[in-house]
Amino acid sequence: MLASACPGWICYAEKAHSEMLPFIARTKSPQQIMGTLVKSWIGNQWGKRPDEIYHVSVMPCYDKKLEASRQDFYNEMYSTRDVDCVITTGELELMMREKGWDLSVPVDSEDAPPFTPSSPSHEEQFLPELLSHPGTSSGSYLHSLISAMSRVSDGPTSLSFKTVRTSDYEEYTLRNQETGEVVFKGAKCYGFRNLQNVVRKVGREAGVQVGKGAAGRMAGGIRARLKKNADGEADRGYDYVEVMACPGGCVNGGGQLKPIALASTKTQDEEGYPRNWGENGVQLPGAESGDDPTATMLQGPKWGSKEWTKVVEKSYWHDLPTPPPSPGPQGSSNPKTSIARADRLAAQVKMDLCAPRVTGIPSEWAVPMDVEAESRRRHFFRTEYRAVESEVVGLAVKW
Ligand code: SF4
Repeated sequence: MLASACPGWICYAEKAHSEMLPFIARTKSPQQIMGTLVKSWIGNQWGKRPDEIYHVSVMPCYDKKLEASRQDFYNEMYSTRDVDCVITTGELELMMREKGWDLSVPVDSEDAPPFTPSSPSHEEQFLPELLSHPGTSSGSYLHSLISAMSRVSDGPTSLSFKTVRTSDYEEYTLRNQETGEVVFKGAKCYGFRNLQNVVRKVGREAGVQVGKGAAGRMAGGIRARLKKNADGEADRGYDYVEVMACPGGCVNGGGQLKPIALASTKTQDEEGYPRNWGENGVQLPGAESGDDPTATMLQGPKWGSKEWTKVVEKSYWHDLPTPPPSPGPQGSSNPKTSIARADRLAAQVKMDLCAPRVTGIPSEWAVPMDVEAESRRRHFFRTEYRAVESEVVGLAVKW
């Protein structure tokens, strides 16, 4: 199964590799899941219709705007979208600059403890607590699956990982500690080049001719996934691959602030707005003095370098000075408690939105419900993909 969180990857698969679509998870992306939660679940709690809520998301890339505008995420009954407006982090920064806010100045009462009203308003009572999660800053789907598989496995497990070529392609293997059996095997695969490698690998393992669209699926049929390697050990291939289009993942998305060395070469942002990045881009420590060699390292016209990605990743997990406090490397002081609370909340959301007819069944997320409730679950949390046919008709091309 391939991840569905990155619209850059989904667009690419729909346009260039429709033979991969059956292997992509049908789960909505984090942005669109949040759209469902805001418009349908929180909206219900507040007594508001979906068209009475305006939902803005702040995202690391422009592809998220395209995603929010897909037909699947339009509510015909209320003539509204699950996400009404998407702005990138770079655009948010630009808007704040236009308002004259100096981002280097501390916010008033920044160090004060988080505000907890003694008698919360009706709306606030239903706002669930924000819970951080361990794993990657690109949605963390792979990490969540590994953690879930480890919890449901018979007996203790051990996790090993190896880097395949670069840190953008890592393989994770979860084994039963007692038997050595592979319980789960997954990979994190970021950046366009690695993404193409994954497409080829899936094609080989599933017997699909890559690049032939839906026709490719007919060519080889599905080969047995389990094959023996040289040592006779079953090579089970990957159960799940966290595919993301940007090298380094979402921290390096095209809508993020640029490192100053890269930014200074561009006078417009991706949407054509004039930007003086040299003035209001991000200044790497040592960039002016020339002490920091990473300050001048570039990777390409759109993305920052690996060194820059590490700086942003570090800030994301550790270094943000503004409240609410950024999550620690493990997501919270006690990740197990945090995950258990998130699981309970997810189960509550499922029961509220899907309204199972049969009462008394366990509410855990994985427990199936009656047919109508399952159909509501699919409607709220899953999506569809469509192959985009090329508009160039072969016969019409003049050679
Ligand atoms: S990897 Fe890049 S294109 Fe994909 S969701 Fe993240 S920022 Fe957007």
